[in-house]
Amino acid sequence: MYDRYSEISMDVRYTIIVLKANKLRFMKGQSIIIVLNEYPMTDFDNPKMKIYKVQLSSLEGVSDDENYDYSNYFYEEMYLMSDCNPLILDFGRNEKQKDLKEKLDEVRGLLIKSDEIKYDHKKDVIMGNLSYIYKMINEVYISKLENSIISRLVMRTLVEIYINLKFISLKEKDDKDIWESYKDYGSGKYKNIYKKIEEGKMICPENSHIDHNILKILANELKDEEFIKIDFKNFANKSIRQKFDDVEEKELYDSFYNYDTCFTHGYWSAIRESALLFCDNPLHNYHCVPDIRGEQKLIDISSDYIFILDRIINIVKKELEIS
Ligand SMILES: [Zn+2]
Repeated sequence: MYDRYSEISMDVRYTIIVLKANKLRFMKGQSIIIVLNEYPMTDFDNPKMKIYKVQLSSLEGVSDDENYDYSNYFYEEMYLMSDCNPLILDFGRNEKQKDLKEKLDEVRGLLIKSDEIKYDHKKDVIMGNLSYIYKMINEVYISKLENSIISRLVMRTLVEIYINLKFISLKEKDDKDIWESYKDYGSGKYKNIYKKIEEGKMICPENSHIDHNILKILANELKDEEFIKIDFKNFANKSIRQKFDDVEEKELYDSFYNYDTCFTHGYWSAIRESALLFCDNPLHNYHCVPDIRGEQKLIDISSDYIFILDRIINIVKKELEIS
């Protein structure tokens, strides 16, 4: 009876109502009376059944003697007496990995050309982002993680970087220093962290992955810390949503960004999709079990990486005038 509107589910619903019929009062001429009379004589595939199903369902819960003690006891005992039957979603890896490898080689080719381009902040930022993307996707590809949760976290960053690059490229005509500002903004983020550690306002446990000295050295690499502003707002004072709008990529925000953000934030839907298996034992009452063995495999992400990489490659080629 998983399907609440299947024939057997509706028969059970009808039976419960009929058994209580002596306790229910209907208005004269009310259509439900016709339904109660007609239901047993009507074929389940009869079009009238659509109306009957709705009418019978509307009476669900009409009762004055609800007692869930027994049903609760039933499920508690049955849970202990029978085993879980977890259903595993395994989409496997698709054929697109070869294409992804080719695309990664194309990105690598662009990165190699980096030496031929004159140094400035613009080149530094674009090539830096490209190198970051290359490393992230390569890590997913080499470790065969295209079906994993990690691949979704990477996808979200990938989309955000694409939007950032497109946004900064568009704004360059109004603000020639925007590439440098982008670097300063990032340095400010590191400064904010190491300053709090120095002031004893932040806990940094021993052997933490946050290393105060590295943060300080990197943040001060281009400018002395006195000249680095800590900006608590978003870069260019625009939310990520506004940036998607500005570069006319709203659809991308609604699809990829919104979906993959569910994984980044650990929203329930993403947890359910990736880390929990649905138990198919009806006696266990629709619960989920943890995917301890890592058997649930998400849909291969390779095609989507290629989709965004193509757009990023176009920006890199256009902005740095390379082919
Ligand atoms: Zn179970």
